[in-house]
Amino acid sequence: MSLEGKVALVTGSTSGIGLAIARAFAAEGCSIMMNGLGEAAAIHKVRDTLAGETGVKIAYHGADMTKPAEIADLVAATHKTLGGVDILVNNAGIQHVDRVESFPPDKWDTIIAVNLSASFHTIRAALPEMKRRGWGRIINVASTHGLVASTHKVAYVAAKHGLIGMTKVIGIECADSGVTCNAICPGFVSTPLAIAQIETKAKADSISMEQASRLLIGEKQPQVQFTTVEQIAGFAVFLASDTASNMQGTALVSDGGWTAQ
Ligand code: NAD
Repeated sequence: MSLEGKVALVTGSTSGIGLAIARAFAAEGCSIMMNGLGEAAAIHKVRDTLAGETGVKIAYHGADMTKPAEIADLVAATHKTLGGVDILVNNAGIQHVDRVESFPPDKWDTIIAVNLSASFHTIRAALPEMKRRGWGRIINVASTHGLVASTHKVAYVAAKHGLIGMTKVIGIECADSGVTCNAICPGFVSTPLAIAQIETKAKADSISMEQASRLLIGEKQPQVQFTTVEQIAGFAVFLASDTASNMQGTALVSDGGWTAQ
């Protein structure tokens, strides 16, 4: 079955993995609702470029994923502008690295809101119509940190473990409805979110970005290389395909061997 004509809502798609996922679904002929933070002119440019490259409808809604009312409006606007949500990709995410004793409570709240609660709010709003139509795909971008822990990432690890749990619940609640819910768990992917951590390490250890990158990845991944954003986007398209129609509540991992150890 072709994905042509489906509508994909991708949260956090103004950058990194989300943008690659939006691009991949647009290339499949899906209309896209983009979302994410950033400078208006830059977002406009990305949106126009994507529309020009693919010839599909690309809309944008600037919902702040910490705000349930704005999330509800994002889903409603996707219905109104593009005719529904067939594929929902919960991708928006942020990180903060600090030991638990000094982890700022407001950072905890924001990370839990964006990386975990936002997916509850989007799914809650989009699922009834997917079930009514008898087809839908919910794809949650989790992380290896949804499966294992690292120090100094208490909020991120808690949120991503929560997201994997949510994926399982939604997956089994959607059984036999034509809707599937699955997660993707990348290890290191070269995006602003990971690059910020490499910069911090390079600065702290007075080493080059190249050295810091190899150290940071090598500490976790036997295969010392980034997964690419295009590879993650390929997973998302696969999860939306018929080949994946019997997958429910699973997590697809691409982490250079990190969690195999
Ligand atoms: P990124 O920083 O490039 O993109 C994050 C996106 O989320 C941006 O579009 C940003 O505007 C959006 N966003 C952040 N806060 C928001 C808010 N309050 N409201 C709306 N949008 C918001 O990062 P990325 O690496 O592409 O991350 C995408 C997802 O992939 C995240 O969930 C992240 O946890 C996950 N992930 C990333 C890596 C990695 O190494 N980069 C590894 C595993 C998982």
